[in-house]
Amino acid sequence: MSANITPPPKADIPAPADGQIVAIAEDIWWIRMPLPFRLNHVNLYVLLADDGLTIIDTGIYSDHIAQCWQNLLAAPPFTDYPVRRILVTHYHPDHIGYAYALSELTGAEVLMSRIEHQKSVTLTTMTDAAFADMMVDRYRAYGFDQTILNDLIERGNHYSDKTTRTPDARYIDAGDTLAGISGQWHIRCDRGHSEHHIGLYDPDRRIFLSGDFLLPRITPNIATPLAGPVDDMLGHYFAYLADILTWGDDWLVLPGHDWAFHAVSTRAAGLIQHHQGRLMQLLDQADQAPLTVTSAMDVLFPMELNEHERYFASGEAHAHLYHLVKQNALTCDTDQHGVEYYAPR
Ligand SMILES: [Zn+2]
Repeated sequence: MSANITPPPKADIPAPADGQIVAIAEDIWWIRMPLPFRLNHVNLYVLLADDGLTIIDTGIYSDHIAQCWQNLLAAPPFTDYPVRRILVTHYHPDHIGYAYALSELTGAEVLMSRIEHQKSVTLTTMTDAAFADMMVDRYRAYGFDQTILNDLIERGNHYSDKTTRTPDARYIDAGDTLAGISGQWHIRCDRGHSEHHIGLYDPDRRIFLSGDFLLPRITPNIATPLAGPVDDMLGHYFAYLADILTWGDDWLVLPGHDWAFHAVSTRAAGLIQHHQGRLMQLLDQADQAPLTVTSAMDVLFPMELNEHERYFASGEAHAHLYHLVKQNALTCDTDQHGVEYYAPR
């Protein structure tokens, strides 16, 4: 969620305006949907197969997005071909939020990875109280003060605001393929930004639909998942980056946010360097005094953060500290108030 590495140049493909669609190949379209956050849009894609269209991701659930979809579905390519499938890359609301409504509107089946689907079901069906309990437990360990914990209780389930319902889905997994009219899309599943995120690539045309795992301007948020056991998400993301580092820079990357670009290896190398730099910053600070997640946030994100940004920043600070624990560089001890302290081993 930082923007401090030199971004790769834009590919020569003009981005659509909010709520608009542009064709970028005979079988690929790009849609941009607005988001009510500092990151103010999400990119969706549409692929053409012999039997019809596959929509990749949907935008959040809101009246405005409903209107955008209504306009889009009334024009080509949606008036030329039936929508057969809606593929959701991962459970975050900007990607899955409108999937249930869109599947109702189009009659298309939804494709997801099992883990991302189950995650969305868990979060959409949580009561406000259960969701707040989960957040308060985690935020207390992070070292947030009582005013912020009280805000969480008042806020309730913020996931289900933007993803009112999780659609039924057919599960797909790494190694599966999706036929297109100009080639085969191969599915990969990765951990890091989320837990079993789907990316699609066509190795013949060297086109990569990278979802939220490889973005040109900001670094993807690498955060400890809220529900479920703590996991080394940064370690998983390093493994992903090490894998794509060997791909070269001649791929066209169509990402989940910002612009299309050509620079898989250079971007992966920049992201590895970025996170390693963040880990060094935290180790230096931990040498002065034990860190909490909130004090690590001050190191990594020295800026005013709103509630939404605080959520991402705290998850990311925790993921970095937890990675250092897994690397045996830090220890983690919990005090009598339930706050975690990270100190050099
Ligand atoms: Zn995401």
